[in-house]
Amino acid sequence: MTAARETLRSWFYRPWFLAMMAAVFSTTLLMAGSFFIAMHQVEQNESQEMNAQGERFLARLEQLFWQLRESLDDLEAQPLRGCDDEMIATLQQVSFNYRFVYEAAYMDASRICSNRPRQEGLSLTRKPDIKGPTYSYWLNTTTEPDENRAALMLGRGNFRVATSRGHLTDMVDLSPGSSLLVVLDRGTRAIPVLGAPQVWPPIEHWEPKSRDALQVTQSRLIYRMPTNNPEYQLVLISPRTGMQIPAVWWWLLPASLALGTCVGFVVFLLARQRQSLDAELTGAIRRGELQVLYQPIFDLDSRNCVGAEALLRWRRPDGTLTSPDLFIPMAENTGQIRQMTDFVLQRLLEQLGQLLRANPQLYISVNLAACDVMVPRIGQVMARLLILHRVAARQIAFEVTERGLIDVEIARENLQALRDVGHQVLIDDFGTGYCSLAYLQTLPVDCLKIDKAFIDALGHDAASSGVAPHIIHMAQSMHLKVIAEGIEHEAQVAFLSSEGVKFGQGWLFARALSAVQFIELITRGRRLAARRLDDEA
Ligand code: C2E
Ligand code: MG
Ligand code: MG
Repeated sequence: MTAARETLRSWFYRPWFLAMMAAVFSTTLLMAGSFFIAMHQVEQNESQEMNAQGERFLARLEQLFWQLRESLDDLEAQPLRGCDDEMIATLQQVSFNYRFVYEAAYMDASRICSNRPRQEGLSLTRKPDIKGPTYSYWLNTTTEPDENRAALMLGRGNFRVATSRGHLTDMVDLSPGSSLLVVLDRGTRAIPVLGAPQVWPPIEHWEPKSRDALQVTQSRLIYRMPTNNPEYQLVLISPRTGMQIPAVWWWLLPASLALGTCVGFVVFLLARQRQSLDAELTGAIRRGELQVLYQPIFDLDSRNCVGAEALLRWRRPDGTLTSPDLFIPMAENTGQIRQMTDFVLQRLLEQLGQLLRANPQLYISVNLAACDVMVPRIGQVMARLLILHRVAARQIAFEVTERGLIDVEIARENLQALRDVGHQVLIDDFGTGYCSLAYLQTLPVDCLKIDKAFIDALGHDAASSGVAPHIIHMAQSMHLKVIAEGIEHEAQVAFLSSEGVKFGQGWLFARALSAVQFIELITRGRRLAARRLDDEA
């Protein structure tokens, strides 16, 4: 299991593998994104087209209905009744006056006469589909594909006027497969006026009062046209044109590929740079470029040195120093941090073993990374070294940051094991993470180190100036020791002492010292020298 994880991990450190993954991932993402946008565009265009078509049809149909009604009003208003030549001439005149009136007819109990030869005309015996107070409507009066047959008929009194299928087709240029329907009886019945018959209702929940004029289903666009007449609605149903991939997408394809390749290339360069830094770091450990310095920790009242914090330095062959803030996070990512922690422990006991044996009250604290806290390994390494150098466990303390406590349960177990054998556990940079008081109470901890940022804020008006006193009171109530970090001014010492803080470290007293300097400080009697001890010897 661990071997498999290690293999997987090693793959993730191969620049070309990462680059390939990044290229494939970003290309796929870009292509999918552009496809999605293109399809969305297609859908929008389709809807817009349908809306426009629907509105156009509605305007024309209203015009057509208006003409049919007007023509009926004219016929009703003239005095002639009965079928004679004069009536035929009147009917012909009406058909001539109104462009959409294909046939006009008069009928009574005994006779029917029309402007057209009777066999091709209206079917007048059927009951109307819609019976309004003034006009009656007959829809799709014939289903025969005859352009001259009536498709829509209106009646008033003894008069009938009809428009032909041909007229309707002229007005409403339906695309193939589309249908124009008149919906009656509150949406329960639909009669196709033009186009193919349709299953009704076209969707499961056909609510005639729904506000959406256009409804889009997987295969059809359904456009509901509101009319002035509450008796009927017009509905246009069109098959969808299909998801034709727009031409522009074929350009987006190579563009996505090119962009994905660029991303892959950048990832490759970054990964290689990181790998070279990794390799550099490994080389640095091997070549002994890493050093351990010790920043003394003082009793703030007596100014006696009570211990030190071990801090790593990377001194490159050209003499430049790389800050641990830069290389420690990287080593944590690559896993090299374990090697480094071991190196610090080993080096510290080699350099200060004798000093610690001679000064049993002196202690050194070592920073642990998150992965050091997650496994019991560090306790085992430490135990071996302590036996080898005959140093007491209580002389080595461990600093963990709040960020390092990823899995509290496991961390608690491992920290407790370290405390059980006599080590002290310190929470470093306290206040910068997410440790709450309740959370802290559950951790096996001896001491809180207040982060430099909160010490800096003391005596200023900054919002964070109250954090340090708060942490101090909290620690006191939990009987925890407090160490103030980053003390640079006497005023800070005075304030901290007045608040009951006993220990501190900072450039006011000493920077990080070499082992030789630290030994000298202790053997001189632990008292702080008049001149400030300087860093990075
Ligand atoms: P840290 O553990 O909080 O260490 C304290 C940092 O504050 C050190 O920086 C120290 O040099 C600096 N410092 C102390 N007093 C003062 C002061 O008065 N003024 C100012 N401006 N700075 C002060 P350094 O050595 O650069 O270390 C930075 C961080 O790197 C450490 O923060 C620690 O988190 C990490 N680190 C250093 N060595 C190790 C190590 O061996 N292992 C691990 N895991 N982390 C380490
Ligand atoms: Mg620390
Ligand atoms: Mg700190």
